[in-house]
Amino acid sequence: MADLYVDGKWREAVAGGRRDIRCPADGTLVRTVSEGTRADTEAAIAAARAAFDTGPWPRTPERERGALLLRTADLIERDAEEFARTESLDTGKRLVESAYDIADVVACFRYFGGIAGTNAGRVVDTGRDDAISRVVYEPVGVCALITPWNYPLLQAAWKVAPALVAGNTLVLKPSEFTPSTAVLLLRALEAAGLPAGVANLVPGAGAEAGAPLAEHPGVDMVSFTGGLETGKRVMAAAAATVKKVALELGGKNPNVVFADADVEAAVDFALTAVFLHSGQVCSAGARLIVEDALHDSFVDEVVRRARNIRLGGPFDPAADTGPLISAGHRAKVEAYVAAGLAQGAVLRCGGARPDDPALADGFYYLPTVLDACRQDMSVVREESFGPVLTVERFSGEDDAVRIANDTAYGLAGAVWTQDAGRAQRVARRLRHGTVWINDYHPYVPQAEWGGFGHSGVGRELGPTGLDEYREPKHIWQNIQPRAQHWFRG
Ligand code: NAD
Repeated sequence: MADLYVDGKWREAVAGGRRDIRCPADGTLVRTVSEGTRADTEAAIAAARAAFDTGPWPRTPERERGALLLRTADLIERDAEEFARTESLDTGKRLVESAYDIADVVACFRYFGGIAGTNAGRVVDTGRDDAISRVVYEPVGVCALITPWNYPLLQAAWKVAPALVAGNTLVLKPSEFTPSTAVLLLRALEAAGLPAGVANLVPGAGAEAGAPLAEHPGVDMVSFTGGLETGKRVMAAAAATVKKVALELGGKNPNVVFADADVEAAVDFALTAVFLHSGQVCSAGARLIVEDALHDSFVDEVVRRARNIRLGGPFDPAADTGPLISAGHRAKVEAYVAAGLAQGAVLRCGGARPDDPALADGFYYLPTVLDACRQDMSVVREESFGPVLTVERFSGEDDAVRIANDTAYGLAGAVWTQDAGRAQRVARRLRHGTVWINDYHPYVPQAEWGGFGHSGVGRELGPTGLDEYREPKHIWQNIQPRAQHWFRG
């Protein structure tokens, strides 16, 4: 089947390319997908440009645009099982995790569909009787949306839903590893009645199908989620045409545990924080920072439980977590662990591929705990994006905050303590976009998501996530114009 969606039509790539999508859990061929190149991206931009400049969508009342999002949410929910299976086959993640992701996609569409029309701007008090002043919102224009492979449809939803409700048109470029649910999403939008050209889809590789989106003068905004180095390239390319840029990049997220924490819960969440989806989570709590007095017993228990984590494919009900996305990605994780050990980290568990022959065809890597880590180690500073927990120790509140903030990133972090005052003090001092107290990972579409520092620019979700896709415009009307004679002649 043709997988490019351009100007309301499904078609093959201009150059006829197709890519094999293989499940990372066992290498089986899942499907082949049309592979777009620069010519396809340019055609998609042209379609989005025409739909924005002359089509009905930007002028459709926001409430109607919101209603289309709500219909789309219903369709995704109806077909949730197909969406979840498709996501699991592309990513290798457990079916139950994909089911959560799809439920979150539905919630995201409902959130942005639901707030449509609730903020039409504001009237400004000018202090004058002869002038009316108001601020209204306009769509930004043609939006390029570039997404990663770890939460393929969810990351796309965080962009597509607010972009559409704000009245933009768009080109979506999913990761070349995981394009399949984007195809299903565009089918749902089409079935919900989205006019031709408003949303376009070009699956393909970053350099071929993605790079032109950041460069093209016909694109007004690029919203990118992915790795730091790619994000910098996208930002630099977008600078030439002064595009609006939104970036959701990586994280190196601290999970700070004080000695007065609820230890059983803190151990449990220390595992979920880092090993969920085998660490392929931008907000993964990959840096465990434990108070001296608790360190030894806490780490022993984390290691004991990490050894019990069962690896397996998406449809294995006994599996706790799945494989990494590719052989190349696993090699990168292995290199980070090797570098950490060479720099003096102590391997407490994992540090290898599983020896179970049943897993030999997948890109598995054992949950790994490295103790005695220091801030100068690359495995502590850089995002391995794998199931690798580094452990550091601290003594006292200032030390905890200093270590937690000693990162170029600033996406998320957590603090564990039963002292409510300390919890609030530390939460305020952490330079991270999301801070959990006595919890890890929950988020809701009503609250902003994004990072400080190298974790990105801008926010997704919440009212700010909608504002990213709107240009405020100030309209001033003088209702009693009189000559001022500023110039006396
Ligand atoms: P990546 O940077 O390799 O790729 C992301 C997307 O960019 C893909 O669609 C890719 O094809 C495209 N791309 C590659 N080169 C490009 C170029 N020159 N121009 C335009 N597009 C290009 O990232 P990934 O490996 O797919 O995803 C993992 C990364 O994403 C991790 O660093 C993770 O932390 C980050 N991430 C961040 C968040 C967040 O909310 N902050 C969420 C999920 C993932």
